[in-house]
Amino acid sequence: MSEQPIPPTSQTPAVRSFKPLKPLDVALAELLATVTPCHDVEMVDLADADGRVLARDAVSALDVPGFDNSSMDGYAVCVAEAAAASEQGLPVSQRIPAGHFGAPLASETVARIFTGAPIPEHADAVVMQEECAVDELGRVTVVVPARVGQNIRRRGEDVGQGTCVVAAGTRLRPDHIGLLASIGQASIPVVRRLRVALMSTGDELILPGQVAPADLPPGAIYSSNAFFLAHLLKRLGCEVHDFGNLPDSLEATKHAFREAAQNHDLVLTSGGVSVGEEDHVKPAVQSLGQLDLWSIAIKPGKPFAHGRLDRADGAAHFIGLPGNPVSSFVTFLVLVRPFIQKLSGQVRAEGPVGEALQLTANFDWPKPDKRREFLRVRRDATGQLHLFANQSSGVLTSVAWADGLVDNPPGQAIAKGDTVTFLPLSNLLG
Ligand code: AMP
Ligand code: MG
Repeated sequence: MSEQPIPPTSQTPAVRSFKPLKPLDVALAELLATVTPCHDVEMVDLADADGRVLARDAVSALDVPGFDNSSMDGYAVCVAEAAAASEQGLPVSQRIPAGHFGAPLASETVARIFTGAPIPEHADAVVMQEECAVDELGRVTVVVPARVGQNIRRRGEDVGQGTCVVAAGTRLRPDHIGLLASIGQASIPVVRRLRVALMSTGDELILPGQVAPADLPPGAIYSSNAFFLAHLLKRLGCEVHDFGNLPDSLEATKHAFREAAQNHDLVLTSGGVSVGEEDHVKPAVQSLGQLDLWSIAIKPGKPFAHGRLDRADGAAHFIGLPGNPVSSFVTFLVLVRPFIQKLSGQVRAEGPVGEALQLTANFDWPKPDKRREFLRVRRDATGQLHLFANQSSGVLTSVAWADGLVDNPPGQAIAKGDTVTFLPLSNLLG
């Protein structure tokens, strides 16, 4: 097991010096300090832009809207004339549908106008059709007094010419992409996708599909980590190459790392980063580059390795996550996600764990750990939080059941009714 002391071996000193646990914030700051954001830029069509990181500020070459226009179907009027009109009302002098440019409004008349159509010169308001009476001759009386400017969308009220609509470093969402289209951009500069090599370590691992459940050899398990890690990486815009399962052998591990380092920005592994005899990740990375092995003061997810794998023209980053699935999942969210975001050029407006809500615990947690804990919880319709009964780092069901994590400070007991910090998973998975 990854978190228990083990007897000395050739790779572990006979007398182990226990380093103090590293607080998460310190670990994250040190990890991010190793990152230089990727500056390689490529052009993509808007159709392919979702989730990509914008490489340069998008500055508008025009006002949006480009002209004053009606926000209603109704009548364009001159307010003073409409107010002064006799009981007979005013005749309709023209009809202006969207996409057509009308003539200046003739005095003592109104114009039939539709949503999105340009406001004719001399008109200063639009009266919605429900607020007008139209007689059998087609003359229009404004029933509800009109106010100058009403129902007019002003030129440039959405975007002013020369303003930046989406800043460089933004990970693009559908709404950003719509805004880019509204200023006439068809293709945009984005940071190239990061290339990530993914590997699972452990002789016990079998890929689903390789062997049917009934035929799993004794002691074997299906590998799950690489599956959720691949999808978490893809949601962050990465190109993922899954190298599959590595056996617990130093030579095989070194061989795979050497190959993966050649053309990837990051080599990400799970398992094999504790100090057991079967953990070959550490010596393999050390022989090919440089490694720091940290004990981070979080639960789940204490062991964490990072460093680099050298190649002729530079180096690939290396990150080793713990093998226990929940530890792997949580350390990805709190450390690898911000790491990838920085490496991919994303400028984050939010903190590393996204939006944190203060909600009420509907559970007791009387025996907290001395490490900062991330408890798997579910929020009910009233906003109260319920705890998944088994918080073991091997129980992936806890994550699938949960819709968030309680970020619990070291040593902090929780009693039902206490206010706790809730991190919605929906923020962390995108
Ligand atoms: P390790 O960090 O290699 O000591 O592994 C810790 C625990 O995580 C062991 O019970 C492993 O069997 C399990 N584990 C390691 N890798 C995976 C994986 N890819 N999928 C599921 N469980 C894993
Ligand atoms: Mg292992």
